Amino acid sequence: MTKDDPVSVRVALRIRPMLPHETAIACQPCISEVPGEPQVVAGGKEFTYDYVFGSATGQSPIFDNCVTPLLDKFFAGYNCTILAYGQTGAGKTHTMGTADTSPCTEHNKSGVIPRIIHELFSRIADSPDINYRLKATYLEILNEEVKDLLTGSICLNAIRENHDGSIVIHGLKEAPISSVNDLYDCLKTGSENRAVAGHALNAQSSRSHAVFALILEQQQGEASSDTYLISKFNLVDLAGSERAKRTKASGERLKEGININKGLLALGNVISALGDPDRKTGYVPYRDSKITRLLQDSLGGNSLTLMIACCSPADSNLEETVNTLRYADRAR
Ligand code: ADP
Ligand code: MG
Repeated sequence: MTKDDPVSVRVALRIRPMLPHETAIACQPCISEVPGEPQVVAGGKEFTYDYVFGSATGQSPIFDNCVTPLLDKFFAGYNCTILAYGQTGAGKTHTMGTADTSPCTEHNKSGVIPRIIHELFSRIADSPDINYRLKATYLEILNEEVKDLLTGSICLNAIRENHDGSIVIHGLKEAPISSVNDLYDCLKTGSENRAVAGHALNAQSSRSHAVFALILEQQQGEASSDTYLISKFNLVDLAGSERAKRTKASGERLKEGININKGLLALGNVISALGDPDRKTGYVPYRDSKITRLLQDSLGGNSLTLMIACCSPADSNLEETVNTLRYADRAR
């Protein structure tokens, strides 16, 4: 974090509505919002963020308030990252729109990823004199292993750093995106290739981090010029943050739980190192996990990061919710 860029990491808290299975067992709300402030109280403690979105908030305000500033940066050539954090069932996938595999009949309900694409194409249409190329990659990290979700293949030892500091994943498919439908095709292929295994908390397993990335190339100057301004936008649906015991995990599954937590732990350390004004050494522990290594060129420096911490309002989830609130508070 430099003086020029005082807020490279922003944190939004999103509280989802109570779900039928929670109202069915008479769960009570356990988080209260402080009116007029981006603050909540839960478990007797107060937490402050950059934004707080309560249960009644739909998809649009999230996009309009916290995603649009990142899009502006992305167009200006900077890398951006959005991280959805929280326990399984807290609303990460709903928020990111990772599972939106076909256009929503009501665009109102779409998550962040489809909205970004719509907005990108409308901005591209507004500047016909600039030559744009848009590509997407989609991968998941499970057990510290990278899998290309567009091809289904495992990428071993794939993460490399270029001389300019940019991170490349060797062998990862880059799909050209020239229409909104191309995007939905990518999300659909990705969902089909995403690891699914039985899980006590959620049938659609959340043991892996899913990283959808957009790469924007903008041709500079003359049409014949081959200089491109390149920027990357990472949209990350993180693994569930719940501790292993909650999911009744054992054996292989438990190992996965431990590896997942290693990634989330490393991510928390990287983000708090970036936000620490007393940080003297400039050391940020990117190499401690695959997810932080992968995002190295898009977290900190000139990049803009938004963490959306998602949680359930129900008192049955209080313990995990307080863990999420604490993690997100530390990230800020
Ligand atoms: P996660 O990806 O964190 O495991 P999901 O996004 O799958 O959680 O959300 C769990 C359930 O809650 C889904 O049925 C989803 O549709 C619903 N849900 C989550 N957030 C919201 C929201 N803000 N409004 C309405 N329903 C939501
Ligand atoms: Mg999910």
